[in-house]
Amino acid sequence: MTHGLVTASYIGATILFILALGGLSHPESSRRGNLYGMVGMTIALLSTIIGKVSGNFEIMLAGMALGGGVGIVLARKVQMTQMPELVAILHSLVGLAAVLVGFANFMDPAATAGLSHTEVVIHEVETYLGILIGAVTFSGSVIAFGKLSARISGKPLMLPGRHWLNLGLLVSAIWFGKLFLDQAGTGAGLVPLLMMTAVALLFGIHMVMAIGGADMPVVVSMLNSYSGWAAAATGFMLSNDLLIVVGALVGSSGAILSYIMCRAMNRKFLAVIAGGFGTSGGAVAAAAATGGEVVSVTADEAAGLLLNAREVIIVPGYGMAVAQAQHTVYEITRALRERGVNVRFGIHPVAGRMPGHMNVLLAEARVPYDIVFEMEEINDDFPNVDVSVVIGANDIVNPSAQEVPDSPIAGMPVLEVWKGGTTIVLKRSMATGYAGVDNPLFYKENTRMLFGDAKESLDSVLKDLTS
Ligand code: NDP
Repeated sequence: MTHGLVTASYIGATILFILALGGLSHPESSRRGNLYGMVGMTIALLSTIIGKVSGNFEIMLAGMALGGGVGIVLARKVQMTQMPELVAILHSLVGLAAVLVGFANFMDPAATAGLSHTEVVIHEVETYLGILIGAVTFSGSVIAFGKLSARISGKPLMLPGRHWLNLGLLVSAIWFGKLFLDQAGTGAGLVPLLMMTAVALLFGIHMVMAIGGADMPVVVSMLNSYSGWAAAATGFMLSNDLLIVVGALVGSSGAILSYIMCRAMNRKFLAVIAGGFGTSGGAVAAAAATGGEVVSVTADEAAGLLLNAREVIIVPGYGMAVAQAQHTVYEITRALRERGVNVRFGIHPVAGRMPGHMNVLLAEARVPYDIVFEMEEINDDFPNVDVSVVIGANDIVNPSAQEVPDSPIAGMPVLEVWKGGTTIVLKRSMATGYAGVDNPLFYKENTRMLFGDAKESLDSVLKDLTS
């Protein structure tokens, strides 16, 4: 394969990746977007294998078979609710790859052969930054995986003087960078490189450990962005244009997503990274929550409330994903719409455990897109709603975000379901949500709790609606 052909394939793949991102921005075009991405990746892989790799094919093919095999097994086994943790662990692999490529590049004398001193310095800077970003991405993603899969507590780790610790780590990374570059081109510098790697790994761990439950979405999208920049840095190290472009696409789209998530959470990006939001607020929120009585209803009564309503807004959350209740939700929506009830959906930007989680589930169940609304589009309509149905959601409908100033979720915009006529909340118990904050919504006068697994409860509601 000639150099020109490889370049042409890379340009083609880049265009397909851009089209993929465009497609993924809307549920209706997302399948097409995925397809573009898959074709782009196939072209990228084939042109790199045929056009760029010049030896050791057996090792490469063995690696691809092993990695691909593990990938296939994981993808087939993973539950929809485990997707966020899978994404986090995949980010960690991108970071690890950047670290390994960086060290391999540093140790390979051929990588700098024939370069001028300035070029060598540029190459060493690329290597240093690549390993730095890669190591932060790797350790941060592993901790994010632990938190998302509940292997590590969601509570923020508040070390005394944590901001000083972060600053110390940053300064030492810069200091080791100077030591490393002072020895550029001599083949020495392994010690400062190793020291920096240890510092970066520590920083990644500390950064994510310090982040409180409800702020995790920002971290997940931020690590997504870092993994892109780590890939771009690898592209620079390997002088591979496609990797640079793709890394930059992932890095910048992840950064935009982090910004959107921060806006959704009403947080400042740097404040989230520094961590430690409202760690003492849980108790205050709990006190606020015990002001009223919990009133539970049966599925039959819930069906009655729905049948007497004209306007219904359904708010799905993580529990709908756990219960896999989306298909029953669709059937209930259809049954109510056939009876002339106007049913709409309100989607909070951080509902579930990954961006777009609820949209994916509702699209899978074929809920029409035109009745699915973002939080800003629908939040003002709750006072005109007869019944709001909260399905396995908790933090995203928690009034203490507005009412309790030092709550861990204070200031986070929430769906104001309690402003409607009646709110039906489906969940299994009085347990808190991901942020670990009690929810005063459950004690409000117009709230009715329908306890039980969301799928089982909704199946009974559907039976009552259609009988
Ligand atoms: P929450 O985690 O706040 O609440 C989910 C509720 O669902 C729980 O209180 C649980 O109560 C209930 N539930 C669980 N299983 C079932 C079931 N089988 N049937 C019925 N109910 C069930 O989810 P939300 O969607 O309200 O909020 C998302 C939270 O996750 C936010 O704090 C957000 O910051 C965080 N997050 C979001 C990410 C994202 O990208 N979207 C990423 C990481 C974190 P019970 O046990 O009583 O049934």
